Formats: sequence, structure tokens, C-alpha cells
Amino acid sequence: MPSARATVAELEARGYTHLRCECAGCRRIVDVPFRFIRQRFPNIAIDGLTTATLGNAMRCQRCPGHPAPTRVRPWRIVSSGKSGGRQRKAG
Ligand SMILES: [Zn+2]
Repeated sequence: MPSARATVAELEARGYTHLRCECAGCRRIVDVPFRFIRQRFPNIAIDGLTTATLGNAMRCQRCPGHPAPTRVRPWRIVSSGKSGGRQRKAG
């Protein structure tokens, strides 16, 4: 388990691909790809940010008041690259 102070660049170098967030309200777990965060926030250089910093910026879309996640950790999701792989859908 990498340190919470590890930056996105460091984590990616170690094979991590996603940020796993657990909502403080509904307990929903969402895996957010670092790639998605880059696309969503093109003006922010996330490479130098830590998972803790990124986690504080995450907001649950389901909960009133959009609380920040209670738990955030780096996560590896390796896609097989084959077609017909299982599809993951949030919710
Ligand atoms: Zn929630």
C-alpha cells in the first residue's frame, strides 16, 4: 500500500491506474481513472498531486451536499485488452 503522500506520477509509475473513492454518505465505491481526471480537469497538472488531495476534490453525485469521500486509495485495474471483456458500470 503506497503512502497517501505518493503523487499520481509516482503511483502510475508503479502500475496504479485508478483512484478508488468510498463515499462518506452512501458508501458507494467508485473507481476513477487517472486518465479520466486528466480529461475532466485539463488545466490541473495532477501528476504532482497526492491521492489525498485528489480525494478531497471528489464529490459524490448521489448524496445531498456532495460529501468528499471518506476513504481514497490508489487502485490497479488492468484491462485484458480483449473484446467482450466484462463491463463495469457504476451503480
Ligand atoms: Zn454518496
